[in-house]
Amino acid sequence: MSRYWSDIVHRLTPYVPGEQPVLAHPVKLNTNENPYPPSPRVLDAIRRELGEAGESLRRYPDPTALKLRETVAAYHGIHANQIFAGNGSDEVLALTFEALLKHDKPLLFPDITYSFYPTYARLFEVEYRTIPLDDSFAINVDDYVAPNGGVLFPNPNAPTGRPLPLADIERLLLKNTESVVVIDEAYVDFGAESAITLIDRYPNLLVVQTVSKSRSLAGMRVGFAFGNAELIDALNRVKDSFNSYPLDRLAQAAATAAYEDDGWFRDNCAKVISSRERLAAGLTTLGFDVVPSAANLLFARHPGHDAATLVLRLREREIFVRHFKAPRIDQHLRISVGTDAECEILVNALREIFGA
Ligand SMILES: *Cc1c(COP(=O)(O)O)cnc(C)c1O
Repeated sequence: MSRYWSDIVHRLTPYVPGEQPVLAHPVKLNTNENPYPPSPRVLDAIRRELGEAGESLRRYPDPTALKLRETVAAYHGIHANQIFAGNGSDEVLALTFEALLKHDKPLLFPDITYSFYPTYARLFEVEYRTIPLDDSFAINVDDYVAPNGGVLFPNPNAPTGRPLPLADIERLLLKNTESVVVIDEAYVDFGAESAITLIDRYPNLLVVQTVSKSRSLAGMRVGFAFGNAELIDALNRVKDSFNSYPLDRLAQAAATAAYEDDGWFRDNCAKVISSRERLAAGLTTLGFDVVPSAANLLFARHPGHDAATLVLRLREREIFVRHFKAPRIDQHLRISVGTDAECEILVNALREIFGA
């Protein structure tokens, strides 16, 4: 603490990212990264962009990431002016709070959800109200039909992985027309239905996606918002009042190439989904209750073992999973889906810990 701090800094509760252990071979199942590398075309594109002597780095990148947006627009069959590109979807979400969710009525989001949302709300001084998930951790969209300054949730939800059918999102959009509905689709490619297909029909729908999880590019920091051109314009206005160049050249080239290699993307998603189902079966056999997941993670609790203790016992074996000391979920583990080999190491370690 310091007397030089701004007032707001005293009131912030910063997000705590998952640990990035400095170990040669950790079994890292704590930050939902993809266990497979990005497409080889991504590396080629980065090398091409750099050139022989890195001469391209002298120049600022395209502030609008037009080529990337055109590639992603063609991929989804929409227009480039319906896409905003930012420095990871976390930045896209932050700009969204400032541009679209700051109103005189409270923003609504679930009580159990991505823990960055309340952090942004405090930073941008956005009033919010949390809506409890039901006992099976499902979102009931009818609970969100109340006067609000915006509605925000991930689909599939984080940290549960539980998906919501697109029909439910459309039901919410039909009833909630006075504020923006933001669907954070960080995990959508692992088995949920994207709401991008609805943006032409609902001018208040904003869909946020990332290349961090399903396209193995968490290290490049690229995220998107999809929506009506007027919503996208609001994000551009805030971006150009803050940082005109959120995406560097290498990130733009890498993300473009990742969208150009659809086969690589689909194969990796299929592998992760198959490993998820195997891991869910393995955990269930060990006695865990596993929340149905359409993401690259499983949210599970064991009725006979304390979650925080399990985290420590796994850590001793250099296996990392995530645990949140938060109401309703402090007995759950959030386990990222790794390769089959990594999942097996985890299941064997748990079996050993249980002494079974
Ligand atoms: C991982 C994640 C993000 C952030 O993704 P980046 O693009 O890496 O910033 C956003 N929302 C949810 C729900 C996530 O799980």
